[in-house]
Amino acid sequence: MPAFNSTSRSPAERPPVAGLLATMDEQGNRRWLAPFVSKGAWWQRRLIVAWTLIAIYSITPFLSLGGMPLVQFDIPLRRLVFFGTVLRPTDTLLLALLTLIVFFSIFLLTAVCGRVWCGWMCPQTVYLEFVYRPLQYFFLGASKHQSASRGAGWRYLLLALTYLLARAHLSNTCLAWFVGARPLTHWIFQSPAQHPVAFTMFAAMTVGMLYLFGSFREQLCSIVCPYGRFQSVLLDRFSLVVGYDARRGEPRGKRGATSGQCVDCGMCVRTCPAGIDIRRGLQMECIHCTQCIDACDKVMVTLRLPTGLIRYGSQEYFDHDSRTKWLRPRVVIYPIILLAFIGAFTALLVARTPIALTQLRIQDERVMTESSGEIRTPVRVRLDNRTNVELRCDIRALAPDHVAADAHVTLEPFGSMDAEVIVLSVPEAFVMGRRSVQLRVSDNTGYALDSKVTLLGPLVLPPVRGSPSTPLLEKRN
Ligand code: SF4
Ligand code: SF4
Repeated sequence: MPAFNSTSRSPAERPPVAGLLATMDEQGNRRWLAPFVSKGAWWQRRLIVAWTLIAIYSITPFLSLGGMPLVQFDIPLRRLVFFGTVLRPTDTLLLALLTLIVFFSIFLLTAVCGRVWCGWMCPQTVYLEFVYRPLQYFFLGASKHQSASRGAGWRYLLLALTYLLARAHLSNTCLAWFVGARPLTHWIFQSPAQHPVAFTMFAAMTVGMLYLFGSFREQLCSIVCPYGRFQSVLLDRFSLVVGYDARRGEPRGKRGATSGQCVDCGMCVRTCPAGIDIRRGLQMECIHCTQCIDACDKVMVTLRLPTGLIRYGSQEYFDHDSRTKWLRPRVVIYPIILLAFIGAFTALLVARTPIALTQLRIQDERVMTESSGEIRTPVRVRLDNRTNVELRCDIRALAPDHVAADAHVTLEPFGSMDAEVIVLSVPEAFVMGRRSVQLRVSDNTGYALDSKVTLLGPLVLPPVRGSPSTPLLEKRN
């Protein structure tokens, strides 16, 4: 076997150049990777996790709860359906809290378990390593020699067809998360001209995935994804990482020639889907996929040496053999913040009213003075029905003076509707061009919601204290 650093190997099989991106050679060209799959104990575990996740990704859009999809990022209707709860853009606080919960969960997960998301759960890794790469190796083999052998044309064609099927499935799954599985199933059997937007999205996703999984591949993790860049601040020296035990492995070299246990066979590098050499320490490109653990363990078993030269451990453990410290500032602070956010989110969700009212802007010129001298102000509101039943609502202003027109609307389950109430006020009711009025929305179930809205009107300065002034409307009544 040639030494791992030998230049007699093909560019893809040579070790990555220190200081350069693992996917780039000295000339700045793309270094195409062809990692072999190390089917060890960790790979078996990842295989189970990966296919469980693929099943979850594919089945979830078909699941429903209380007549609603279980989870749906409903872009056409601008809402997020989450376990029977419908969140709209007007639920700003709930959406902000949900986003913070997601972020802090990632912070905590990374602080404790390192990049377990990247190596085990990210759809990019799951589909690339457990669908696309196995298909490629099945039809073409893992080496250039196999892919250029006899009958390669047919094998390329079959691979292209299976890739297309896999991508069509993945694009449809992806689309189903946004438009719902049932409408999508219905659309598939209709002409694309009937649903041009959905069809364009489907075509764009299929082409995008063709490029991503066929060509761009691991560069997404090292060049595009921001999470890899953030890991240096999210991890600390006690976080769990995949690492090389340099104290045991170095000095590396041929067995018997050196005292270290690493025989410099390069198997850990050749199996790495990120194309890096883990023996250079923790690197941004490492997605903690554990392939190098399996590859090295196999070498150690062959050499009758203890396994675990590459293993899970903390940086502190690899450097100083210190035990993992579980109680660390970020491991304590993140859960406290997370619990506070989850508590606030739950409390807001429980206290959520069945109807939401949002005041909409009106144009100034719609505020008019009546012949009686009263100010006619339209109040535009949007009503959101947060329940799964139809609601008939009456909207009226609880103004002490005249209300010119109430509004009546029927809201579909989880539907929205705009309505307009007209209020007549005397000019003195406005201070600095504004006036607050209470609106009451009552529905056919007996529920009533009171909400304060602001009316625009003429600019009347507040009376100077002690001077004779026009009494305000409330006092006059
Ligand atoms: S170094 Fe090991 S754990 Fe990291 S990406 Fe490469 S094979 Fe996976
Ligand atoms: S697989 Fe193990 S023995 Fe071989 S080069 Fe990597 S660390 Fe050294």
